[in-house]
Amino acid sequence: MEIDKSKFKVWTWKQPLTLLWLINPVIAINELFLGQRIPKIMLVEKNSSKLLIEKTKVPCPHCKTIHSGLKWSTKNNAFKNWFGLYCDNCGKTIPCLTNFTSYLLLALTFPIWIWFKDKWKKAWLKNQPERYKNLDLENVPSPFEGYGWVRKGLNWGLFMFIFMTLIAPLIFSESITLTSTIIKFFGWAIAGLIYGYTMKLLAKRTNPK
Ligand SMILES: [Zn+2]
Repeated sequence: MEIDKSKFKVWTWKQPLTLLWLINPVIAINELFLGQRIPKIMLVEKNSSKLLIEKTKVPCPHCKTIHSGLKWSTKNNAFKNWFGLYCDNCGKTIPCLTNFTSYLLLALTFPIWIWFKDKWKKAWLKNQPERYKNLDLENVPSPFEGYGWVRKGLNWGLFMFIFMTLIAPLIFSESITLTSTIIKFFGWAIAGLIYGYTMKLLAKRTNPK
């Protein structure tokens, strides 16, 4: 597909921020549970002082439409994109990157989900057109600006801490000890901050050269 390189910088998996998305194990939660995905190819407008999310475009490899990245902002369809980003022009799916940890988890659980995948994908595709009817492409959300990332990251860490410390031991019949609880508390707080900061980097203003 033809891309006007004087207007756009092409982002693939080799870009530092997308690499971070691929290697950060925490991202597996975003991908597998929340369905938050990053397309294999993104275009970023050159010489623009807009927020990264505003100047990011997502090309559809099937119909060549260049979509506004805002279609997948947290105000619109940031989540539930388990099968990729839906193209509301041609109805096909824009291919996405897969985080290494997600990939590993998917490979390990393959015998379970393979039987349901086609059925799930069909149901998911059927639901997509409705999700793209009332998009808000005017308001740009940026919950990670300023120190928002600290709050977002710690909230996320707290959720993971509660889940992994109180619920996971019930499932895997581990015993809960004070030491392991304290270690997990700090571990998840740090993981939360790393997560928040990663999200901030992904959302912050940058000027691609
Ligand atoms: Zn398309």
